[in-house]
Amino acid sequence: MDKRIELIPTTSHSSDGFTPQGEAPASGPLVDTFGRIADDLRISVTDRCNFRCTYCMPAEGLPWLPREDILTFEEITRLAGVFEGLGVKEIKLTGGEPTIRREFPKLVAMARTAHPDLAISMTTNGFLLDRLAQPLADAGLDRVTVSCDSLMRHRFAEMTRRDALEKVFEGLRAAEAAGLTPIKLNCVVIAGTNEDEVVDFARFSRRTGYEVRFIEYMPLDAEQHWERAKVVPSAEILETIDKVFPLIAQGEGVEPATTFRFADGARGAVGVIASVTEPFCDTCNRLRITAEGQLRACLFAMNETDLRTPLRAGAADRELEDLIRSSVWAKWEGHKINHPDFQRPGRSMSMIGG
Ligand code: SAM
Repeated sequence: MDKRIELIPTTSHSSDGFTPQGEAPASGPLVDTFGRIADDLRISVTDRCNFRCTYCMPAEGLPWLPREDILTFEEITRLAGVFEGLGVKEIKLTGGEPTIRREFPKLVAMARTAHPDLAISMTTNGFLLDRLAQPLADAGLDRVTVSCDSLMRHRFAEMTRRDALEKVFEGLRAAEAAGLTPIKLNCVVIAGTNEDEVVDFARFSRRTGYEVRFIEYMPLDAEQHWERAKVVPSAEILETIDKVFPLIAQGEGVEPATTFRFADGARGAVGVIASVTEPFCDTCNRLRITAEGQLRACLFAMNETDLRTPLRAGAADRELEDLIRSSVWAKWEGHKINHPDFQRPGRSMSMIGG
């Protein structure tokens, strides 16, 4: 069977083999049986993307979800409110590529008006930010994270299959001008592809003030080309940068990105997301909702909770809350990337919402 077809989202959920003891608490924060509290929610607003990053999606794209399967703006806004009531403090809008969802600023405005205290940010490839940064800021977006894997035009084009680096730079400038700050840059580092640029990215961070976060390549690419040998350990990245620009750790938090400042006081910062070599499952506070309304408690989860069906069937907030509480309660201890029995989830990154 074509590998790509196996990745089409399915509503039949395989089990991850974890059975939680007892019942989820009926009040208080969203807690699981390991005592972790989930208060950071990523909501994917579309599974489509205008880039074709080699480590994420095939050149020809994926079979897109039918429009009617995707959560409406009203549904997303309502869910954001339900999660806020459960203690979520920040939502990050993602995809696919969030900016290609039609009238995307309208969604941000709806969510902002309905939930004035919620932090709302976005992860984007930056391609459309040159014209959308200001409308999004006006709509109430707080800040952006922009993905950028190379500072070299030809390599950027190779990795994203789009000759768009200059446009992304324009987008970054527009985001800054619109006050969508502090800006973070996500860079997936792949051995033999772009690991020779980590010091250049650190230099770029010092010049611009953006925090550059290096992400380890994860087995979530639709084409299943991932192999362990292509992962550049975060520890190596930090060591390489530290030799040129000494770094100071910012201390441990629940944030998966371990952040470092420059010892000489330069602006900018460097972060690492070491999901493969140093999994941070024991402090993971993240939840994700896919574009069609499936709640995932882990990037690598083998099961999901369908929120769209009850939403569309007229469920009351209390019913949605109970469903969410039970789903978080059933979160497994951690993903098994480093176990011999690791199985990739049935979705690739763009279908989950990174
Ligand atoms: N289109 C938006 C963007 O480019 O940021 C949001 C969605 S994208 C799936 C979110 C993040 O996931 C990006 O920073 C991307 O680089 C990262 N990503 C995608 N596939 C990945 C993989 N196999 N391993 C690690 N990170 C990956």
